Amino acid sequence: MPFTLPPLPYPYESLEPYIDEKTMRIHHTKHHQTYITKLNQALEKAPEFQNKSLEWLLVHLSQVPTEIRTAVKNNGGGHFAHSMFWKVLKPQGSGEPTGKLKTAIDSTFGNFSTFKEKFTELATGHFASGWAWLYLDKEKRLTMSTTHDHDCPLTQDLTPIFVVDLWEHAYYLAYQNERPKYLAALWNVYNWDEVNNKL
Ligand code: MN
Repeated sequence: MPFTLPPLPYPYESLEPYIDEKTMRIHHTKHHQTYITKLNQALEKAPEFQNKSLEWLLVHLSQVPTEIRTAVKNNGGGHFAHSMFWKVLKPQGSGEPTGKLKTAIDSTFGNFSTFKEKFTELATGHFASGWAWLYLDKEKRLTMSTTHDHDCPLTQDLTPIFVVDLWEHAYYLAYQNERPKYLAALWNVYNWDEVNNKL
């Protein structure tokens, strides 16, 4: 079994009241675990790829055997995105971006407040399941966009540094269908220091 569930870097209840303990526990131990289990199951059919890193599989998806490519895209993409999502959250959050991240956000979007507005608009407007990302494009420019299902920017030669889960399972227990309330709450628990480290 090449891939295992990374431990959550904080206790399940520690993001309350913004994300509840039950949502975090189910999301991590059931949803994320299931993507890892299915990724491992897919790779059993192509043992020569079992020693590849998750990032390699997603960057080189076109080299993965067609029989398991969709399973690797969906479940490997799910494993990658969830692993990053847990890390860009932090109990109490880290305030506002500093350092290189602040400079990049200010020069790209004007200021943090405008960035918040644009990111919220993007994430709110995304139809159905997916992820909202910040990534560096091929020219190292900071960019935001969403992907559907578990599609990963790595597969497009982009370098993701921040991600937000837009699947209903991320918020339905506490917020039901109200994605804007979940997105508003998340601004209290983002870990910008972690994002800054990825730049
Ligand atoms: Mn999820």
